[in-house]
Amino acid sequence: METILKLDGEGGSLALLGEKNDDDKWTYFIECQESAMPDILDEEDQDLLPLPHKKEIVGTDLRLALEKLGRHWRHLRPIEVHPDFGWSVYKQVLESPPIHLLHWKRVCLGNNPLYRLAEWISLSNFTVVLSGAGMSTESGLPDFRSKDGWWRRLDPHQVSNLDTLEDNYELFRDFYMYRIETVERHAPHLGHRILAKWEKKGRIHGIATQNVDGYHAAAGSEKVAELHGNIRSIRCHRCGRGAAVSDFLSKRNCSACQGRLRPNVVLFGEMLPEKAWNQAMQWFRSAELVIVIGTSLQVAPASQLPQLTSGRTVYMNMEIPDRLYRFDLAIQGKAQNLLAELDEMLESCLL
Ligand code: NAD
Repeated sequence: METILKLDGEGGSLALLGEKNDDDKWTYFIECQESAMPDILDEEDQDLLPLPHKKEIVGTDLRLALEKLGRHWRHLRPIEVHPDFGWSVYKQVLESPPIHLLHWKRVCLGNNPLYRLAEWISLSNFTVVLSGAGMSTESGLPDFRSKDGWWRRLDPHQVSNLDTLEDNYELFRDFYMYRIETVERHAPHLGHRILAKWEKKGRIHGIATQNVDGYHAAAGSEKVAELHGNIRSIRCHRCGRGAAVSDFLSKRNCSACQGRLRPNVVLFGEMLPEKAWNQAMQWFRSAELVIVIGTSLQVAPASQLPQLTSGRTVYMNMEIPDRLYRFDLAIQGKAQNLLAELDEMLESCLL
């Protein structure tokens, strides 16, 4: 059982507690932690609250659970807020702001890394993003290295290389046909669309992506450097002539020279596309703020880009490695949730 929110009144205190199940869903409880109820609560409220030291279950919806603390809960003094709930609680406080709102803000958001990042975004004149496979897992595309990634089933190093393309073309083609079909079956998620919106609003100035799915552009981002190419763009491996993705999916060869078709992606051992790489280096050198999202940073040279900036650096990922050098801030979580929460903070005009 964890404390979600602890409130103090003149004559007693109240706490909203929470218990998380295996699916990460919370169930909430209210507890009156002292013998007397907070003075500010009126009789009607007090009738609804549990007896002192008795925990009463109040459901799985945070909004309803908070309202069950009584009509005047926002006027009590917050003493403690669970770090994962700071923004959700504060949003609800804002719906009917109490006099001591600043105190609420300090307690709810004072140590909130996402809020700190929201402040940095609003202060920065040039913000760039580096995204990786973790940006698209919530769209349904597996990444390479986390526990549900490709790595466990098939080592992409052993397929995404020139030797396989030349010596075992069937395996190469099947692997990429499967990946193209997966990209076509899924779509960008809210997080991709938020980044596109931020570009239009001038909040970010470029995205360098290691992803080959094309989802940033599909969501509306225009300043995208695709460092590893695009899986739905096809060319002949022999003569370089472009072909339709349907030709590759129908297992055809090049119509001009009968060479093998392949996606325009960077295979292990190949050079990065010069234009995209130079563009990315220029962005990162000029950046005041670099936000890295959903990458294990194990593939060079893309992993070196954050080091080019003299600005602030932030790493947002589901897993935070024990040794993460050179980042000013690390935020653990899922890309889509984190970006949605950040967007709410930026849109709320609190900054
Ligand atoms: P990676 O698999 O090495 O690392 C992905 C990281 O994302 C992991 O650290 C994982 O913990 C994290 N992650 C997973 N889901 C997340 C989520 N919902 N929110 C936040 N973080 C999450 O991938 P990489 O670092 O991009 O590098 C590997 C190579 O993989 C790149 O060259 C890329 O071209 C290729 N790749 C691309 C795609 C794609 O285009 N969607 C998919 C798989 C692999």
